[in-house]
Amino acid sequence: MSSSSGRRTPSLPICPTSQVGRCAVCHHPTHRYGHGGNPLCPVCRADLLATQKKKATPAQR
Ligand SMILES: [Zn+2]
Repeated sequence: MSSSSGRRTPSLPICPTSQVGRCAVCHHPTHRYGHGGNPLCPVCRADLLATQKKKATPAQR
């Protein structure tokens, strides 16, 4: 069977090379700097959002 865990590989960013950096999580090249940049690639951002949604705690102490 495939050993893949279903993780997608982010596509290369469409931005100037000077604004490309490594994703903080998966280390794939992504649009990290400048306008619209993000330290996480789209895949990891989606993962983060999903995680936050899953463990959203409505109750606060
Ligand atoms: Zn990533």
